[in-house]
Amino acid sequence: MCGIFGYVGNQNKAANIVFEGLKLLEYRGYDSWGVAVKKDRKLEIDKHVGKIGDAKVNLPQSSLGIGHTRWATHGGVTVANAHPHVDCTKSIAVVHNGIVENFQDLKDSLIEKGHKFISETDTEVIPHLVEENLKHEGFSSSVRDAFNKLKGLNAVVVANAVSKEIVAAKTGSPLVVGIGENELFVASDASAIVKHTKKVIFLEDNQIVILGEKLKLIKLPEGLEIKPELHILDWKFEETEKGKYNHFLLKEINEQPRVIENIALNYSVEVNNLAKLIKDAFGTFILGCGTASYSALAGTYLFSRIAKKHVNFSIGSEFNYLEDYLTNRSLLIPISQSGETIDVVDPVANAKKKGSKIAAIVNVLGSTLYRQADFKILLGAGPEKAVVGTRSFIAMVAVLILAAYSLAEKQTQGKNLLLRAAENVKEILKERFEQKIKKIADE
Ligand code: GLU
Repeated sequence: MCGIFGYVGNQNKAANIVFEGLKLLEYRGYDSWGVAVKKDRKLEIDKHVGKIGDAKVNLPQSSLGIGHTRWATHGGVTVANAHPHVDCTKSIAVVHNGIVENFQDLKDSLIEKGHKFISETDTEVIPHLVEENLKHEGFSSSVRDAFNKLKGLNAVVVANAVSKEIVAAKTGSPLVVGIGENELFVASDASAIVKHTKKVIFLEDNQIVILGEKLKLIKLPEGLEIKPELHILDWKFEETEKGKYNHFLLKEINEQPRVIENIALNYSVEVNNLAKLIKDAFGTFILGCGTASYSALAGTYLFSRIAKKHVNFSIGSEFNYLEDYLTNRSLLIPISQSGETIDVVDPVANAKKKGSKIAAIVNVLGSTLYRQADFKILLGAGPEKAVVGTRSFIAMVAVLILAAYSLAEKQTQGKNLLLRAAENVKEILKERFEQKIKKIADE
């Protein structure tokens, strides 16, 4: 995983905008970072090892830039291996999330053609592939043809100092495009964009987006221009900042009561609909990975104990053992904070092929699971920065508690229980308990 941010627009401070964007994405990768901005017909680059923290970026003023916070997979943690990576002419720069599985073959053939490599990364083949294609085609098709040669799950953002454009493409890893007034953004996560604009497009696999004076979205493999589907984010920028807390984990822990209350007070209709889907389904499967899998497992216990209803549970990556039981009357409930977890996204795609219904419980509006689902419940937990899931987990469990009570036709009882839980969590988070908790943690 890594954080990607790109900017093109009328503000002449791309370096700072990108740098600030990367700070908001640091949770995605933090062994090294770098920014590239356009200066005349070349890209100037500033790269560092370590966390961004309080560092500063040292680059000229510019209206176009891209940046990256890395979590190395190929090549050690060095300045040379940090992104962005450039082609031989230094007019093309690339930031990349993922693994180019066939990079060695591509690198060998590029070296044969005379390209010079300076890093040990898999990523560096991409700018050279684009450079090679630019000899006989335009920029966006050069990126498209380079991208088509990459094996693996990748998100790629390419800056061109000559055409003054950024082109992005992805398979698997998320990319979001932000649309401002005379400026465009691209990032791995909408929380890095919401400060600038709430208007976003979630890039789909096999789409290429061109950010220049205008935005152009192209569908592969046909290469047809398509109309982007706009989403309006309902997050506030403050939600993406630490505020008075020393770190995000503490902030997110302290926001749990608000999250539980919100679900108790505002989710009756959606949760009733989910309960109805479970009631009508011929077999329900609830799945998640990591933290979300614990909420899914709790869900099966809740449905069993409260509503006397059997619901199957599976960890996302093991769901293929159960896929034979899916029919067009089954219901799949994938649960995921990001809505991008590949081990949950894949089973959903397979279930859809069998005609099963999908009711997703996710935190990120417009995420892959959100888009794939027939029915969705947004957790409303706010953007989650800490790697440890806290308020998103509590939100998942709260939705499932309410759904179980709704299925048992006792929704008011469920609501009251959640409101009491919110009060209890508030109590536990008070100063005197915090001291006690710290003491236990020390011991
Ligand atoms: N594979 C690339 C590298 O090691 C990208 C890793 C990432 O997603 O941060 O540099």
